[in-house]
Amino acid sequence: AYIERIHNLDKDLQAYLTVLEKEAQAQASEIDRKIAQGGELGALEGIPMAMKDNMCTEGIRTSCASKILKEFYPPYDATVTTRLKDAGSILLGKLNMDEFAMGSSTENSAYLKTRNPWKLECVPGGSSGGSAVSVAADLAAFSLGSDTGGSIRQPAAFCGVVGLKPTYGAVSRFGLIAYASSLDQIGPLTKTVRDNALVMNAIAGYDSQDSTSVRYDKPDYTKFLLNDIKGLKIGIPREYFGEGIEPEVAKGIQESIETLRNLGAEVSECSLPHTEYAIPAYYLIATAEASSNLARYDGVRYGYRAQAEDVLGMFRKTRAEGFGQEVKRRIMLGTYALSSGYYDAYYLKAQKVRTLIKQDFDQAFEKFDVLLSPAAPTPAFKFGEKSNPLAMYLSDITTVPINLAGIPAISVPAGFVNGLPIGMQLMGKHFNEGTLYRVAYTFE
Ligand code: GLN
Repeated sequence: AYIERIHNLDKDLQAYLTVLEKEAQAQASEIDRKIAQGGELGALEGIPMAMKDNMCTEGIRTSCASKILKEFYPPYDATVTTRLKDAGSILLGKLNMDEFAMGSSTENSAYLKTRNPWKLECVPGGSSGGSAVSVAADLAAFSLGSDTGGSIRQPAAFCGVVGLKPTYGAVSRFGLIAYASSLDQIGPLTKTVRDNALVMNAIAGYDSQDSTSVRYDKPDYTKFLLNDIKGLKIGIPREYFGEGIEPEVAKGIQESIETLRNLGAEVSECSLPHTEYAIPAYYLIATAEASSNLARYDGVRYGYRAQAEDVLGMFRKTRAEGFGQEVKRRIMLGTYALSSGYYDAYYLKAQKVRTLIKQDFDQAFEKFDVLLSPAAPTPAFKFGEKSNPLAMYLSDITTVPINLAGIPAISVPAGFVNGLPIGMQLMGKHFNEGTLYRVAYTFE
């Protein structure tokens, strides 16, 4: 049924970069046989899903939506791929994204223009646009995305699905093609909060192959789906409702806050005073790390190689032809920020600001269990509307502080503005994904 929907709808929606029809059908037949023999199925066994094209899948093209990885067929699986295989999920294919996960609209893909299923003239958000659309349009039962500065939560909000960015270190990054390593996290996009918890049960947990993976007591996340939030303390950071946030969006989120109050949560305002410095700090740190991570694409080891007279010429031509405009912009920005003479003024300063932002959250979490805000300042915007890169960067204001602090956050559907879905963001303490699920579940 999912393959059929992909055939019918993906011509217009363009969520998939690769569809694994034969492989998926074969796996489905296996499951059928198992059911016929009276076998018991695990929670994710036989469930058709899809993954963002920056997660390695052995023998299956993994392009990062970049020309430079056009012919990259990884020789190994990412840990999340292995874990979903072990759980028996069926991989339907690989999903479109902004090139190397750089962007907020999926317009930076070198290959496809993914559309928002609610309004085809609008973007799906990004960078995990394909991941959000595949779930919203029932082209997959769930998907995985990655979130460096909002790339799971913002497209989830734009497409009306649930998206979780887990705590940094909760889900292994082994086999995730790196954008900004100190910020990247993989997480699930789903139709429901329950589904989200089930996928986290499968993918989260320590992995010795990722040096930043954390050993922690991984709970059964479905235990938090209680329908009871009495006495829970919820903070509303005022900086997330002010300048730059569309009033209709703020109003929509206020309604959800009222609902939580009526259900017995203790809601009050709070402040995260360094929020206004999050965008500049993020775009320095993320581009600095990206410039270093992307140095490996030189035409020698992966994917694309341009023909040239000598080796240096080959490097130059490969990178000139292989990377898109936004990726080049960021490599230049990051290289500049890391150069001697500028390092202290930019990179080091940004790292100090990052600490202040983290401290804002630490202080807020002394008083509150959860913080609540809009997931994005506006609903989905039209293609081409944010052609100025700076305008695009500024639209990340509600999501990037969370990655800088390393805390978990979830976006859940919270109604509509002008016929487009909006998302409510819940932020939690490190490794407290369960509490986020508990609050989010009351809306289900
Ligand atoms: N929009 C942000 C950026 O372009 C976040 C992207 C992401 O989370 N991968 O960097």
